[in-house]
Amino acid sequence: MRKLLIPSAIVSIAFMALLLSAADKTTSGKTSLPAASDSSLPAPARAAMNSIDPEHIRAHVRFLADDLLEGRGTGQRGGDLAAKYIATQFALYGLKPGGDNGTYMQKVPMVGVTTEPQSTFSFVPNSGPPMNLKFGDDYVASNETHQPDVDVNADIVYVGYGIEAPEYKWDDYKGVDVRGKVLLMLVNEPPSNDPNFFKGKALTYYGRWTYKYEEGARKGAVGVILIHKTDMASYGWDVVRNSWGGEKDYLKENNQLALPLDSWVTLDVARKIASDSGKDLDKMMQDATSRDFHPIQLPVKLKAHLVSKIRDIDSSNVVAMLPGSDPKMKGQAVMYTAHYDHLGIHPDMTGDNIYNGAADNATGCGILLELARAYAQAAEKPKRSIIFAAVTAEEQGLVGSEYLGQHPPVPAGNISLDLNFDDVPPIGTPEQTTVAGAERTTFYPVVETTAKQFGLGIVPDARPEAGHYYRSDHFSLARVGIPSFSVNEGDKYKGHPNEWGLEQAKDYNEHRYHQPSDEYRPDMDFSGDALMARFGFDLGWKAANMPQVQQWQKGDEFEAARLKSEHQTAGSLGGSGESH
Ligand SMILES: [Zn+2]
Repeated sequence: MRKLLIPSAIVSIAFMALLLSAADKTTSGKTSLPAASDSSLPAPARAAMNSIDPEHIRAHVRFLADDLLEGRGTGQRGGDLAAKYIATQFALYGLKPGGDNGTYMQKVPMVGVTTEPQSTFSFVPNSGPPMNLKFGDDYVASNETHQPDVDVNADIVYVGYGIEAPEYKWDDYKGVDVRGKVLLMLVNEPPSNDPNFFKGKALTYYGRWTYKYEEGARKGAVGVILIHKTDMASYGWDVVRNSWGGEKDYLKENNQLALPLDSWVTLDVARKIASDSGKDLDKMMQDATSRDFHPIQLPVKLKAHLVSKIRDIDSSNVVAMLPGSDPKMKGQAVMYTAHYDHLGIHPDMTGDNIYNGAADNATGCGILLELARAYAQAAEKPKRSIIFAAVTAEEQGLVGSEYLGQHPPVPAGNISLDLNFDDVPPIGTPEQTTVAGAERTTFYPVVETTAKQFGLGIVPDARPEAGHYYRSDHFSLARVGIPSFSVNEGDKYKGHPNEWGLEQAKDYNEHRYHQPSDEYRPDMDFSGDALMARFGFDLGWKAANMPQVQQWQKGDEFEAARLKSEHQTAGSLGGSGESH
């Protein structure tokens, strides 16, 4: 039934899209935006850039955030409709399909895993009664192996931060064989103010929970238990519970580092495990901050039975290409990304149960589509090709972009740069931009000059310790070596003091972020979104025409991935740009 319903819906959406774009003509060009005063782009490029219109972005956001789109859930009808809408726009702009078999759709095969309530999770000390935990309140757990059930009965080894980082001369494992064990570890990384040691206050990838699970799997452990501590995780237990309490989506193919059991426990539970082992958790945590830390086998076993509901999920990235104008350089590309998925619809919720995701991330999609239109209609084309990718399943853990990184339409080594747009506030004209991560790339001097041309101050990441760099889609592309960062607005807005911007951000985080109230409102002001799109256009155009592709700075954690991908694609310069 569902399949039968879709075609007519697509027809009406395409028709609505035409109506919307026709309606836009009347409002186009009314908003005056600060354009680059001394943009160094050639005149045809500048004309294309200046055609980027806040009212076009509004039209896309209004449509994508409509209740009819049902919150654009991954693997849900609303998400599929959003993908079709975006593909339709790409087609109307005359862009080349960059997906599977000559289509705009790149299918992302995923598996959804939901831990069932009949699962059990207990700590069994060598002497004394077992501690039986309650799912959600005391622990969360998931089985990454896509099996319907698994039994774990294994010794627990405390491994401190669970990090092996030769470049910082840090090894929490010290060669101890942890195969078949369950590893208990801390989130985050050893605290430091030294920029040469785990990048000082900033979080590196070693501090992210995804790394911890991957490292556990590499060491042959059967499970990892992370100890939640609010300041160390930079978010509360409710965030852990919400994001692990329901379905977790994984790439179907990417299964070599899959753990039978990945989990979190609350700080209280961790304290109890420590005291059952005759130890003090605070002391254990303190000991872990030393280079001399050694793994400790605890006199406690984990006994768990995880029952999982497994289902296949089909969802697609939507990918379009603008071929470059230079016969030698068109095998290389610059990429723009924005996720189109959001949290969908929650049928058993009372009241408004549609997570419209107007700001997150219909705004980024509107920007991506305006960029695509402007490039497609430019009277002159850049030398390198341009890729436009609206990715799926970001809210499920950057899954769509992970797949895109592993299956790029042009080999990763030939992609000079990725610029990502995620949750760009429609609240006015910013006088600042955030480009966290750009300073780690060879492209940064261009970013600085261009920001100046746009009258935009660059604000550094206010909380580098929170590791935001690792939480949006550009990170998936950085992992395969592509210099990548997100472009967003800073705190200072035209006509307002600095505090106003901070208040807006706080109000959004508390009252709308990841809530059904993130809805389109007619009083939204998309001039900042258009400005970010123009700024991104200018940056991308420059990157697409510079003699060299961009790199990570020497010694950066993604440098090795870049070298590897360039090695793999050596000689493919000027190739057909086919998928590999
Ligand atoms: Zn987002």
